[in-house]
Amino acid sequence: MTDVHLNLIDGTWVPGDHLTENRNPSDLSDLIGRYAAATAADVDRAARAAAAALPAWQAKGPLARAELLDRIARRVDAEAEVIGRMLAREEGKILPEAIAEVRRAAQIFRFYGGEALRIAGEALASVRPGVDVTITREPLGVVGLITPWNFPAAIPAWKVAPALAYGNAVILKPAELVPGTAHHLARIIHEEGCPPGIFNLVMGPGSVVGRAMVDHPLIAGLSFTGSVPTGRAIALAGAATMKKLQLEMGGKNPMVVLDDADLDLAVAACLNGAFFSTGQRCTASSRLIVQAGVHDAFVARLTEAMLALRVGPALAEDSQIGPVVSAMQLRGNLDYVDLARAEGCTVIGGEALNGPTEGYFQRPALFLGAQNDMRVAREEIFGPCAAVIKVADFDEALSVANDTPFGLSAGICTASLKHARAFRQGARVGMVMVNLPTAGVDFHVPFGGTKGSSLGPREQGRHAAEFFTTMKTAYSFGG
Ligand code: NDP
Repeated sequence: MTDVHLNLIDGTWVPGDHLTENRNPSDLSDLIGRYAAATAADVDRAARAAAAALPAWQAKGPLARAELLDRIARRVDAEAEVIGRMLAREEGKILPEAIAEVRRAAQIFRFYGGEALRIAGEALASVRPGVDVTITREPLGVVGLITPWNFPAAIPAWKVAPALAYGNAVILKPAELVPGTAHHLARIIHEEGCPPGIFNLVMGPGSVVGRAMVDHPLIAGLSFTGSVPTGRAIALAGAATMKKLQLEMGGKNPMVVLDDADLDLAVAACLNGAFFSTGQRCTASSRLIVQAGVHDAFVARLTEAMLALRVGPALAEDSQIGPVVSAMQLRGNLDYVDLARAEGCTVIGGEALNGPTEGYFQRPALFLGAQNDMRVAREEIFGPCAAVIKVADFDEALSVANDTPFGLSAGICTASLKHARAFRQGARVGMVMVNLPTAGVDFHVPFGGTKGSSLGPREQGRHAAEFFTTMKTAYSFGG
């Protein structure tokens, strides 16, 4: 019988109301495990337990939190290969990338262990004689964390670690497609001595478990990463309980290649940005905006490199691109390939592939001759597909790059300091990359976007305090 994995509520492993199968998208015969789906009543129990546990947890002070996070970081590092294997099996990321993601999660826990000891305030002179004014940061309270399937270790880590570091109690709901990695992290957090109620794991569908978190009055803040429609629904529903919200959503990230770019570098950056991790990154380069003088040479080189990518099972040593995460996602990607043709693009690659095992394999795709007003250039596909848009000059490139409802990441490949600087200043996004792929970021600096990509304070680095704390201004007289 396959392992059954339970939810963690108030320090106890508890069943839900049914079990959900977790299957390997590289090999559908591989049943990874069965995971308990929580109910709205479970969310309520978790929220009450979290609220009850908070005062004692906060009284312990920052050193207890720093030490807990440090212990978690060590365990995650020590078990990186095992967790990475789980991640590769359930999400489809190739094993080296999966292990690297887990190590990143460990770095994030370690970083916030340090941050727990650096929570600073301010003291100002009052405009009234004899009065002192201080500004301090206090924990938000009980926070709900809702995560997507594409980074099953890193995204939970970059929400859980700051939440705990700044003294909050956590309820984590991972995406139903990838409960295994989150469950392993939860076990580590629990076993390393996180007090009962301070960290809770509730698995199950977003429409039930996530929705119950959004509606719960004891949950003061909700940090979500996922698609725009879900983010919008959360923003609307969250208003009813006046929740503080942090929403990280999609992207349609442009990568500009100018005539003066180092072609080797540009092809490598676009190959990585568009297709690695099967294109399932919110920062993936899904629009390649290429200046006319270099367009044909660039397309020829990128096509050759793309068609040479080895698509295969996540655990196979020679795979460079793993499967698409699910049947539904693959169907959606293939529909976009058809749409690209219908909209007038020349499509290279993009077809479903047979692998050595039954899985959701797809050859990466380039949509040549795309126009920026086509649906394939405006809608997030979230698969290994990139639209190539030819432009005349830098000004047109920047204007096309900004002509999108999203604003997460944008890149430019150029040898011109002038154009690099103008792009850094002019791109209406949260993250700009010069001669680097649009995907791939550091963990100690802010992450997030503008326009439809993000709502609320930035994630990661010390700026995460903006969301996970609330400020108190105190005035005192006398003494
Ligand atoms: P979804 O929006 O479908 O789901 C994200 C999470 O929200 C899941 O845990 C899901 O649960 C949950 N959820 C679904 N419905 C509700 C609801 N009504 N109330 C509360 N929670 C709900 O996104 P995906 O998981 O498909 O992830 C892909 C998306 O994430 C892409 O659009 C991508 O761009 C974005 N993303 C953004 C990043 C960023 O930082 N900007 C980083 C990574 C991804 P379940 O799936 O279990 O039903």
